Amino acid sequence: MGKEKLTDYFGCDVFNEAVMKERLPQAIFEGLLQTRRQDLPLTEEIATAVANAMKEWAIEKGATHFTHWFQPMTGITAEKHDSFITPAEGGKVMMEFSAKELIKGEPDASSFPSGGLRATFEARGYTTWDPTSDAFVKDGSLYIPTAFCSYSGEVLDKKTPLLRSMEALNREALRVLKYLEPRATHVYATVGAEQEYFIVDKALYLQREDLIFTGHTLFGAHPPKGQELSDHYFGNIKERINRFMQEVDETLWRLGVCSKTKHNEVAPAQHELAPIFSNCNVAADQNQLTMEVLKKVADHHGLVCLLHEKPFAGFNGSGKHNNWALCTDTGLNLLNPGKDPIHNDIFLVFLSAVIKAVDEYGDMLRLSCATAANDYRLGGHEAPPSIISMFLGEEITAVLTDYAQGAQGCEHCAGSLQTGVHSLAVLSKDGADRNRTSPFAFTGNKFEFRMVGANQSISGINITINTMVADALCTFADRLDAAQDPKEEIKQIITESVTKHGRIIFNGNNYSQEWVQEAQRRGLPHFKNAVEALVHFRDKKNIDQMVRMGIFTETEVLSRCDIMLDDYANTINIEARTMVDMAQKQIFPAVMQYAGTLCQVINQKAKAGISALKKEKEYVETINRLTEELLFATESLQAAIPGNKNFASCEEKARYFAESVKPKMEALRTVVDRLEVQTAKKDWPMPTYADLMFMV
Ligand code: ADP
Ligand code: MG
Repeated sequence: MGKEKLTDYFGCDVFNEAVMKERLPQAIFEGLLQTRRQDLPLTEEIATAVANAMKEWAIEKGATHFTHWFQPMTGITAEKHDSFITPAEGGKVMMEFSAKELIKGEPDASSFPSGGLRATFEARGYTTWDPTSDAFVKDGSLYIPTAFCSYSGEVLDKKTPLLRSMEALNREALRVLKYLEPRATHVYATVGAEQEYFIVDKALYLQREDLIFTGHTLFGAHPPKGQELSDHYFGNIKERINRFMQEVDETLWRLGVCSKTKHNEVAPAQHELAPIFSNCNVAADQNQLTMEVLKKVADHHGLVCLLHEKPFAGFNGSGKHNNWALCTDTGLNLLNPGKDPIHNDIFLVFLSAVIKAVDEYGDMLRLSCATAANDYRLGGHEAPPSIISMFLGEEITAVLTDYAQGAQGCEHCAGSLQTGVHSLAVLSKDGADRNRTSPFAFTGNKFEFRMVGANQSISGINITINTMVADALCTFADRLDAAQDPKEEIKQIITESVTKHGRIIFNGNNYSQEWVQEAQRRGLPHFKNAVEALVHFRDKKNIDQMVRMGIFTETEVLSRCDIMLDDYANTINIEARTMVDMAQKQIFPAVMQYAGTLCQVINQKAKAGISALKKEKEYVETINRLTEELLFATESLQAAIPGNKNFASCEEKARYFAESVKPKMEALRTVVDRLEVQTAKKDWPMPTYADLMFMV
């Protein structure tokens, strides 16, 4: 790997436009480009030519199989591999791949979550080629990105609704742009997803059942040193980690993923990888690949990559910052304020659409990130709070307020940044300073949504953002179409983003207690856990919007809501059972053993005529008392685990776990963490936080 030039091998395993151009007849290539822009449907002629070229190319790359790569509701990817072989005369085989095999697959998909959309007896599901995302070769197979739906056409995956939301956004944005930038013929959402993760040593990982079964630690006392010195953030990268990162980058580059930035994050053992943004469908596919590559490459180095949202209590969790903007085919970023934002109607109208959308559908943003795992992170001291608000920065906020008051000039344009050191360049100042505490922050020419969990697919959140912004744009377009004077109407629309939706804008500290109260006064929703948020997916206004924009039917919304609630319950169930298992089989025996050893010493002392110290006895008594608490807490948690109990609905089940099981898990953890502090290191039955985070 090392000696090749990056520019030569970048994308070498991808059937990208350069390869298509080289290997397809001119007319077919041009037809395919139009399909990729979603301007024209795919024809059989194109599919046949592409299938053939793809097969030849993939075989040259060493592929023996092909797979329809899809994204069921599990949030990860799925694949089933078929080889290209077909029998030929004389006991030989030939390599074949037809247009039909490219376009349509039929995985027996009965075991994927469908939220009741499909019973196992009608398990048929179809996968269909997504020509807008490039196929690639990996591990001896040709991977074809596909969408996945049921026999009767119901959506069973995360890609189909994402593509639909992109279409809705394009349609409604163009209706508005007719009045502002008529040259544009296509609008698409651009997304750059920064990925945070933790790295731990594999040998230590394998000694912790909680990491193996749930992806995070369910027990663990805080080590003597935490993250208080901020010495890990952007710190020098250790050699072992660096070798891992280099292989990750090279692997991703071969797969055409523009991995751009890597650095150490705030918590010890925490890191980040950021790609260069692309259109949101490709970004979603590539983020799935990135997560897979991180995990696989870690293994090559005797490491494990933890993508869980909160691997270690008391330390920063991992998120996925979803950077989102809108771009036209004429190369214009619709969210770029430019030098003179107060006179930039395009920027102000599209900004207004986002403000209206976030104000009216903030609950949808929140619930798109609502998972059992993300609950451990959101609202914590260093994570985005679970109240949705928007940060615009003082300058852009002032531009909007000035505009609403009819001001003509721009008193609040960004100046230059004076470092006070003459040898340093004078930098132009971004329109918005960073506000790390806001869940939805304007960062110069894009929005950064920070609530998404590190382990989540980014499709869900982008379906939500695209749809709600498309819907807001639709109301604007309706108004403009009906207006006598569209120019005047545009003014109205922009003004309303402050007068009607100003409550959603908050530039202050989102972690403060005052904000919780202020948000309540403003009437902004605050859901205390994932279940409380998820049930609002079924609110009439939210279903209506999804249906109106053509993303989901009502049945599809209901089934998705059930899948998410069920996932919540199942996750907590596994965690609770893991805790009981560890408490009974590892922690209890270990502390009994340790208490026994101490008692032996005390007895030996007595035999030797030395009186045991008061403090020694107290120490053992503390362990004794905590051991009793441990047994009570374990028993109580075990009793709360419902086993095969039937619940009336997914909601009831999820609520049960949130309200009756989780508090018992917390109680058990508290006792165990106190016992850990009290027990000799050599007798503690698993690696500690210090071992896992500081010893890599
Ligand atoms: P940070 O927020 O950590 O300071 P950057 O400003 O470098 O990071 O950008 C973070 C991410 O935002 C990167 O993945 C980058 O490609 C992406 N990004 C930049 N511009 C856009 C855009 N117009 N649309 C979507 N994503 C963008
Ligand atoms: Mg960022």
